[in-house]
Amino acid sequence: EVPSFNTLAVECVAGPNAVLMPRIAGLPDEAFRHDGKMTKREVRAVTLAKLMPMRGALLWDIGTGCGSVAVEWMRAAPEARAIGIEPRAERRAMAAENALALGAPKLELVEGEAPSALSDLPAPDAVFLGGGLSEETFAAAWAALKPLGRLVANAVTLESEAILLALHARYGGELVKMQVNRAEPVGPLTGWRPLMPVTQWSLVK
Ligand code: SAH
Repeated sequence: EVPSFNTLAVECVAGPNAVLMPRIAGLPDEAFRHDGKMTKREVRAVTLAKLMPMRGALLWDIGTGCGSVAVEWMRAAPEARAIGIEPRAERRAMAAENALALGAPKLELVEGEAPSALSDLPAPDAVFLGGGLSEETFAAAWAALKPLGRLVANAVTLESEAILLALHARYGGELVKMQVNRAEPVGPLTGWRPLMPVTQWSLVK
């Protein structure tokens, strides 16, 4: 059965298996089926904050992977819409599954690679560049964005970070680098396990 949007707020049930599933972004990583290539919880929450979900607004989630950002976008505001662009079939399948399980069954998935796959899509209110970053893809997304549209791009490789530095120099916006460490067992003790640092560039049109 497909959960409707209105059930999202009442998924908290009494009992030992109770889970809280708030609409605000930053669901635990385990809430999604994924293959490791996913924006982790803490960075995902910041990413969604800058994308600014609003009622009825459309997100292009470029390189959607398992769909974590698109799904959280659609949960965060009534009637929010999202299109996920992803070339790999097994990741599109994960995204579809996550969308159904987490109350975003209307997630649209497009097979293909940016920038070519973007040409016929309706104009977005926000764009997330979470994979396949290039200057050409940025240019296509920026041109399509509506006025006051938000764009957020995350990079974990030096090569994609270099693209963000160049774009920031030209377009301005906000550039931040985030490093999350999680406390995890080290033998009988506990240590900080670092996640890969993420460089994030964001701007409003
Ligand atoms: N956005 C996801 C992370 C996905 S990892 C999240 O936040 O959880 C990056 C994804 O980008 C991969 O699944 C990869 O297949 C996809 N990708 C790579 N090049 C692409 C391109 N040119 N257009 C669209 N997707 C691309």
